[in-house]
Amino acid sequence: MAGGVTTDVKAYSMFIDGEWVASNSAKTFPVYDPSTEEVIAQVPEANAEDVNRAVAAAKAAFEDGPWATTTAQERGRVLFRLAEKVRQNLPMLAELECRNSGKPIVEAEFDITDVATCFEYYGGLATKILGYVNPVPDNAMSLSLKEAMGVAGQIIPWNYPLLMAAWKLATALAAGCTCVLKPAEQTPLTALELARWFGEVGLPKGVVNVITGFGESCGSPLVRHPDVNKIAFTGSAAVGKIIVKEAADTVKRVTLELGGKSPNIFFADADFEAAIDGALFGVFINQGEVCSAGSRILVQKSIYKKFVEAMAEKAKKIKLGPPMERDTKMGALVSKEQYERVCSYLEIGKKEAKVASGGWRSDKFAKGYYVQPTIFYDVDNNARIAREEVFGPVAAVIPFEDEKDALKIANDTPYGLAAAVWTRDIFKAMRAVKALRAGVVWVNHMQPTYVEAPWGGYKQSGFGRELGPWGIEEYLETKQVYINLNESPIGWY
Ligand code: NAP
Ligand code: MG
Repeated sequence: MAGGVTTDVKAYSMFIDGEWVASNSAKTFPVYDPSTEEVIAQVPEANAEDVNRAVAAAKAAFEDGPWATTTAQERGRVLFRLAEKVRQNLPMLAELECRNSGKPIVEAEFDITDVATCFEYYGGLATKILGYVNPVPDNAMSLSLKEAMGVAGQIIPWNYPLLMAAWKLATALAAGCTCVLKPAEQTPLTALELARWFGEVGLPKGVVNVITGFGESCGSPLVRHPDVNKIAFTGSAAVGKIIVKEAADTVKRVTLELGGKSPNIFFADADFEAAIDGALFGVFINQGEVCSAGSRILVQKSIYKKFVEAMAEKAKKIKLGPPMERDTKMGALVSKEQYERVCSYLEIGKKEAKVASGGWRSDKFAKGYYVQPTIFYDVDNNARIAREEVFGPVAAVIPFEDEKDALKIANDTPYGLAAAVWTRDIFKAMRAVKALRAGVVWVNHMQPTYVEAPWGGYKQSGFGRELGPWGIEEYLETKQVYINLNESPIGWY
């Protein structure tokens, strides 16, 4: 079963306690290629009892299994070996990711390379988890120890399927946790392929379990399970709010990476060509299905008209096409549901603003969820297309007067994941960096993301940070230890 992708419908099992298993209900559900609308696989539909099985395996592996005594050095080596497997199988994984998500193959190849890099980074970091000696005013030694949190439930979205899995698994494993991973219902395949190597790279059974299912019937029982110590979630703000409430009953640690409506701000003094490129790349990469998409494009009035025209002109050259073709720059949206959602925003946008380019589904293809890259302009920041996350190739261009105006509009949003500012004036740039209420701020670029640097949001874009040393902290508890060095009695009574 392992290996190459065919157009046949492939039947997958899920991975619990080191075994390939069906759901105990024996139910399965179809997985699609959104560029052809064809079913490419069937996966088990996990229910609450399957969640119980997976959590029991993860708990046993954490408490009694060999993982509990595996050294940090060995945990690091496991991650290096997993990275190696990913690099060796890059063409297969990238093709599968491309087919299942609709993203262009070239972008999928970048994603899979990032997956390997992420495992390598945390492989190295496993041996750099340090404690402290606390300078208490007593004849004692006071220590702060860092310990793995326990069983981590990890729930991820469909836009970067294997990369989101890697961000979660690499960090948890470096910290010494055990995991139950639930991929998005639309895109479970690459995570299941990854699981084929877990045993071979030295992960004991039960350390990582991959369960496939739906949010309500599989994700929710995982969030509510009393033996899960932490939930790491990436997805929509709506589901994030449900998760915080459901996790409250068992006082779970929760980290949330939610959506955004990120501003990409262009001052008149920015390099014009670079700015046009940056505005398009910021919002249209990965079909706009990016949590940090620069979906609000704020442009200074003195260059506004020329800017909108240049964007529209260049957007026409973005090659919408079959995801597997190497010159495709925009593929298909991930699912029928997402396609319909994006199309409904196209209709909303046409009522709220003017269309500079796109605005329709693409009629170039008989099948597949293709939408033209769409630019709305003269958008009011209070319009729905400026406030609500579309998660598709839809840009809202908003004019602004001056710096004060730009920063006010930029921060006027419930979200705070990312922001970018384009200018040649270092004073203006640095003032914007300080003023923008967002977890990630780019200057004269938008989107580059590296495992070495923290990732996460302000406001309703979530809390907690992934990546870098910040990411690993979210899987660690701190234990305070007091060691009395005084041999005589306390002498209080
Ligand atoms: P979603 O509907 O929130 O789903 C995310 C995950 O949560 C999926 O695995 C989903 O399962 C699961 N889920 C749904 N309802 C649940 C419940 N009641 N309890 C537990 N789990 C539940 O989001 P999506 O549509 O997959 O992804 C798009 C969203 O993700 C966007 O809003 C985007 O901004 C956000 N995102 C954020 C980041 C970031 O780093 N901040 C990165 C990528 C994406 P199902 O698949 O079965 O629905
Ligand atoms: Mg969903």
